[in-house]
Amino acid sequence: MQLPIARTDEELRTLLSHLRAGGHTLALVPTMGALHAGHRALMQEAKRHADRVLVYIYVNPLQFGPNEDLSRYPRPFKADLQACMEEGVDGLYAPSDADVYPQGFSTTVHAGSASEGMEGALRPGHFDGVATVLAKMFGRIRPDVAVFGEKDYQQLCVVRQLVADLDMGITIIGLPTIRDTLAFSSRNAYLSENAKQTAPALYRTLTQAAQTIQTGTPPAQACKEAKEAILKAGFEAVDYIELRDATTLAPLQTYHPPARLLAAARLEGVRLLDNVPV
Ligand code: AMP
Repeated sequence: MQLPIARTDEELRTLLSHLRAGGHTLALVPTMGALHAGHRALMQEAKRHADRVLVYIYVNPLQFGPNEDLSRYPRPFKADLQACMEEGVDGLYAPSDADVYPQGFSTTVHAGSASEGMEGALRPGHFDGVATVLAKMFGRIRPDVAVFGEKDYQQLCVVRQLVADLDMGITIIGLPTIRDTLAFSSRNAYLSENAKQTAPALYRTLTQAAQTIQTGTPPAQACKEAKEAILKAGFEAVDYIELRDATTLAPLQTYHPPARLLAAARLEGVRLLDNVPV
């Protein structure tokens, strides 16, 4: 069966009326494409929460900084289409920049407190860009449910806060990170074979640090030791490694479960993000 694709606002309205016909519930899977096993797992999860699943692929310029990889971000549309068909989703929405941000567009959303620090500090404006595009997509699509990965844990918390604070009435589902030797990420494509051998050290170190925190090591000490271990494994730099409250993302000086240990580190100039529950 062919996968219905909407590219314009009008096509989206037609597609939505088909998907919604008969009172079906709708789950949305927002992505930037270059779909991998992590995205596929989100699609499978989405099916468990609604009658119909819509995937969107949109590389949102608003969430990229001036020195980030917007122009070289992978866009393998044919393969993405194939992945959506294989997963049996019910529709794909792939709008253009001109359609999402037409001339005269000027209203943006300022992400809440969950956006402070970590990615929010290193990528100014990033979460405002994420919150803005999601407010628009949620408004256009009006899904019952939207599914996100814990891979981008801070983003997941920002989205939960956005939906609660602005009364969007959408159920947000967070799915644990899918990984083989390393967490699936569209940016893994930038890594050399050598770096792919080094990369799993990030998750391994975070897992060990989480255990030491749970057995009484002060978080600051555990984070310092983890940073040293990540550098020793071959990463060029550790942007941050922090223990945060798992829901509010407030920084934690002492361990109170449920907490989350989040890190970003650079390998061959590629920023790899990971996080674990504590
Ligand atoms: P992206 O296309 O990178 O914007 O990611 C789209 C969605 O897929 C986000 O909700 C991500 O958190 C999620 N995602 C990315 N990688 C993974 C992974 N390895 N496991 C689970 N979800 C993921």
